Amino acid sequence: MSLLKKADILKYCELIEPVPAKDEDLLLAHTPEYLALVKKTREIGGWLNIDTPVTAGADDAQKLITGSALQAIELLHEKKSKIAHTFGGFHHASKDNGEGFCIYNDVAVAGRALTERHGLKRVMILDSDAHQGNGTMDIFLNDPRVLFVSIHQDPRTIYPGKGFVWETGEGEGEGYTVNIPMPPFSGNAQYAQAFDTIIEPLARAFKPEFFIRNGGSDPFFGDELTMLGLDLDGLAMVSRRTRDLALQTSGNLLDMTVSGYGEWVEYGWLAQFCGCEALDTDYKAFSPKQPRRSPPSTEETLTRATASMLDSLQRELRKTWNIF
Ligand SMILES: [Zn+2]
Repeated sequence: MSLLKKADILKYCELIEPVPAKDEDLLLAHTPEYLALVKKTREIGGWLNIDTPVTAGADDAQKLITGSALQAIELLHEKKSKIAHTFGGFHHASKDNGEGFCIYNDVAVAGRALTERHGLKRVMILDSDAHQGNGTMDIFLNDPRVLFVSIHQDPRTIYPGKGFVWETGEGEGEGYTVNIPMPPFSGNAQYAQAFDTIIEPLARAFKPEFFIRNGGSDPFFGDELTMLGLDLDGLAMVSRRTRDLALQTSGNLLDMTVSGYGEWVEYGWLAQFCGCEALDTDYKAFSPKQPRRSPPSTEETLTRATASMLDSLQRELRKTWNIF
């Protein structure tokens, strides 16, 4: 918030007080048994997983964040705004499991609210967090109403170890889960390749009625938990292309921004915010000087490895999508 103030960006925003999600909201994406487990864990003080404690603060905060996603979709659905931002993206929580710092999957609760409460038939979720959105994928695996596209660091090299090209959904949902595993150290040019080859053609063919982006700062090359190569301009570019695509297809965008680890997180958020809102703010003027990005592979090698992965992915998607 202080960085948004410093960059004089709050003048473009209306701030809305979040209201916590209720059990009936959380049940859109989670089982009653799981909610009971979280309650019990909070009472006695404990952990759902090695990295996921259920403190009162974490539980309350994630309920607020999930509530804010629901407020955002109402606002966009009523066309009171075209773009809304929340501080969410807890994509590792599945219907009956919490992990990766995630207790409630706000992305999935929002997606389900759109299909169950508003009767939408085509919702697109683009997950550009460096980690694959395994919880969101599991929740929508069989659901052709939600096209889930995750672009992330190659799962052989990072948690949660899921999101290979051949994971494309199940049953009626076959072809509606799309995983783009980027070679480690992929940067701006390789992300642009993935947008050109997969993300944009898919969105245009699917014609979503609603667009959700699960973003975050962790694909930044200086992030401390990941090994990707976007710089601040790359984060802004991904957000700008997401914005343009969302507004051209569904006409709306719910953007979530929570992830990122290390000293660069908020500068990544600022770059993404500016991209998403198409602001010409000089976001780099508010951050420390970026270190030089020096991937161990050449740009050419990265581009070739990305093209080869995108080829394999297109082969998988041809079973469902005649555009490839
Ligand atoms: Zn992440």
